[in-house]
Amino acid sequence: MLRICEFTNMKKLIVANWKCNPTTLKEAKLLFNSVKNGVKNIKNVEVVICPPFIYLSNIQHLKSDIQFGAQDCFWEQNGAFTGEISPSMLKDLGVDYVIIGHSERRKYQQEKDSMINKKIKAALKIGLKPILCIDKTSQIRKLQRSVKMNEVHRLKKDFWGAIIAYEPLFAIGTGKPCSVDKAKKMRIAIKKKLNKNIPILYGGSVDSQNARDYVKKAGFQGLLVGGASLNAQEFIKIVKNVAKA
Ligand code: PEP
Repeated sequence: MLRICEFTNMKKLIVANWKCNPTTLKEAKLLFNSVKNGVKNIKNVEVVICPPFIYLSNIQHLKSDIQFGAQDCFWEQNGAFTGEISPSMLKDLGVDYVIIGHSERRKYQQEKDSMINKKIKAALKIGLKPILCIDKTSQIRKLQRSVKMNEVHRLKKDFWGAIIAYEPLFAIGTGKPCSVDKAKKMRIAIKKKLNKNIPILYGGSVDSQNARDYVKKAGFQGLLVGGASLNAQEFIKIVKNVAKA
């Protein structure tokens, strides 16, 4: 049985994807502490930081109201899988969220929808909240095709507990965000394909100027922030602007 997480009355969610940054633990601690101090009085937004795996255990004990996420996980809980990090290990460390299927992993690690599907299930099974990154609704159809026929009817259920991040490829790391109107249309289309209660985040060149519109005008539950999350002051502004939305 897959564990189903509750998202009713969920706060706005802002997820920082640090990707492969910064290059030292000292900088990682500095960045984390600056964000922690900057957002400490904001209660209506859940802030999640996803540092590289190697920093997780070192900054997790500095915990405040900030939650932690990983940038990936494997689909088995343990075993002979050299180099992999399992959902159980993340859960044991106090991690709550895990980004799965980011476009950079699809591109540089050749991650396929079938692998991504297994990762989502493994994460949900252990009680992590997977953040599934997609750039078009057809990826959801492909994910549906990647499981065996007898699993298909369960797939919609499998997404319960998952969070979707709509991240159009052209907007990631380019400084060219998706228009609020187009993002809104995609959000509605994704909800129709899955279920209406699934939280959907927007990601792609979010900054402190545009953050609020994706939540207020386009109706997203929150944001997945890459580049701007490495600048503490900019990231804090994003959180504050969304808190006012
Ligand atoms: C991302 O990589 O998930 C992302 C949204 O990056 P950026 O904010 O830099 O476009």
